[in-house]
Amino acid sequence: MTYLDHAATTSMSPVAIAAMLDAANELGNPSSLHASGRRARRVVEESRELVAAALGVRPSEVIFTGGGTEADNLALKGVYWHRRNGFPDRNRVLVSAIEHHAVLDAAEWLAEHEAARLEFVPVDQLGRIDVEALRTTIEADPESVALVSCMWANNEVGTVQPVAELLAVCAEHGVPFHSDAVQAVGQLPVSGVGLSAVTVSGHKLGGPMGIGALLAGREVGIVPLQHGGGQERKVRSGTLPVPLIANFAAAVSDSVATIDERAASFRTMRDELITAVRGAVPSAILNGDPVDRLPNNAHFSFPGCEGDALLLLLDANGIECSTGSACTAGVPQPSHVLLAMGVSEELARGSLRFSVGVGTAMSDIDALVAVLPDVVERARAAGLSRSVGR
Ligand code: PLP
Repeated sequence: MTYLDHAATTSMSPVAIAAMLDAANELGNPSSLHASGRRARRVVEESRELVAAALGVRPSEVIFTGGGTEADNLALKGVYWHRRNGFPDRNRVLVSAIEHHAVLDAAEWLAEHEAARLEFVPVDQLGRIDVEALRTTIEADPESVALVSCMWANNEVGTVQPVAELLAVCAEHGVPFHSDAVQAVGQLPVSGVGLSAVTVSGHKLGGPMGIGALLAGREVGIVPLQHGGGQERKVRSGTLPVPLIANFAAAVSDSVATIDERAASFRTMRDELITAVRGAVPSAILNGDPVDRLPNNAHFSFPGCEGDALLLLLDANGIECSTGSACTAGVPQPSHVLLAMGVSEELARGSLRFSVGVGTAMSDIDALVAVLPDVVERARAAGLSRSVGR
């Protein structure tokens, strides 16, 4: 089996598994006051310190969540509610047009149910967020902006975003800035410094599914989404999953400590893959920024093909990849990311993301290109016969 879908989820690192097993062998709820509870609490707080040190924030700025989706929802809804409290006209929510659905759908929900005025910041044809467009949008009426959310790097086409410039524009106007860094941590240098909130997820960087964090300064007001025991600064109630937290923290720390070698090896494999795919299928079009992209990401459009057909034919040949984000795969719609970049609907539908990770070898790329020309030919024939039949 050739796994080229590490951006959907990647394997757990051995240090993270070891940390999880150690914690799993211990009894104790970190909220309990007795010795076992205090031992569990120590694991949580040491983990919090590891995450904070790796991502340049204070331990008190790490709020553990049940993953990236929850952290994005907490940032969007929690900050919006806080900012709007007492200021009903401060209801503009500005998000880039290429956000993950965890941000997009949360923003759309706010528009439908909480009177938010949602505005999209455009991107260029490489998928790079337009800083000047954000400036113009904010400056139309800075007082009415509740928050801005722009991702650190795009999960589909891999384009790295001008986060420092976007942050500077928001800071100029005192507007809270959230960034979804789920795909970036462990691949690019990420620091929470200066941002109001940053989303991190465990299973993209060698940790487990179902755990993540929102990095948010204490000065950032966040109205909780769920209520209960008052854990995590009363912002995110729920018994803390100690083994997952230990695993997550070890994975974050390890992926950041080894980022140079990780990124270099991902980049080497990714570049080999791009060259090999172009050699095997000269009509393939590389999407996203050719230089400023995630080290592990290669994203192509194959003219005349349906992405789902390509994916299934590759899968039948033991090659696993994605039509884009795993979270939207299975929904037969062209990617909103590619459409925002100006790619035609037809081309957008014929796209595949290959993402490398720990363990990807040249043999995986050889296996891909051994079958790709035939797969593309068959998908194209199927695609064409389907459109002729319509
Ligand atoms: N944000 C981005 C950019 C992602 O790629 C993903 C997952 O694909 C998420 C958020 C959701 O994270 P999680 O799977 O931890 O809920």
